[in-house]
Amino acid sequence: MNQVRPDQSLQQFQSGVAAMYGLADDRHYSIFDLLTQLQRFTMRVLKGIRKGDDEKLRTNLLISCTWLMAIANRLHINVEDQVWERFPALCSYCGLAPCKCKKIHPEKRAEIKHDHSQRPANIKGFQEMFRSVYPPESRTLLDAGVHLAEETGEVSEAIHNFLGQHLQKQFDEIEKEIADYVSCLFGVANSASIDIAPALHDMFKDGCHVCHRTPCTCTFSEVTAFRS
Ligand SMILES: [Zn+2]
Ligand SMILES: [Zn+2]
Repeated sequence: MNQVRPDQSLQQFQSGVAAMYGLADDRHYSIFDLLTQLQRFTMRVLKGIRKGDDEKLRTNLLISCTWLMAIANRLHINVEDQVWERFPALCSYCGLAPCKCKKIHPEKRAEIKHDHSQRPANIKGFQEMFRSVYPPESRTLLDAGVHLAEETGEVSEAIHNFLGQHLQKQFDEIEKEIADYVSCLFGVANSASIDIAPALHDMFKDGCHVCHRTPCTCTFSEVTAFRS
């Protein structure tokens, strides 16, 4: 069964993750467990960056994509819609493409108008969109990794806040932080020259990348022991 095609949209990938991992995620993991797994694999991305290990970086970045989607699935958040809402081919802060935040130091977020004709049709299109908004030449891979780590913490913070008081504005923050995480994930991919769409296809074309089944039949302890 092929849940992940090279030309798929972000929405299709999110649905593919639900088909592959939804059952195991719902049975075995609380949302806090899902967050821990997101943090675990994102930190392994950073380890790959620090050690100059491209394979470690790549594998853990792709696995991190699936845990982020698992969190979004649990909360019924459409990641693609949120990414487009936050990054309509423009920087979410200065409202420009390419981003000029470092030059002009805007004090507040610009009013952003959406030109829906610019919305990318698939993952490849989103990666290109992020390349034009945040050109990889404008920062190092290390900087991109640090930013990804920062956003991982902000996703956790937003979810913890929401689960404390259950306010709509706190839920809205989760949606924004998930979009920011995706932006940084593409940022790292662009800095490391990883073409996300075919890489996801390679890894998940036969279902789960470990047991090669849909739904995944890996046990809780197999996931805990997984190293790449
Ligand atoms: Zn900017
Ligand atoms: Zn599996």
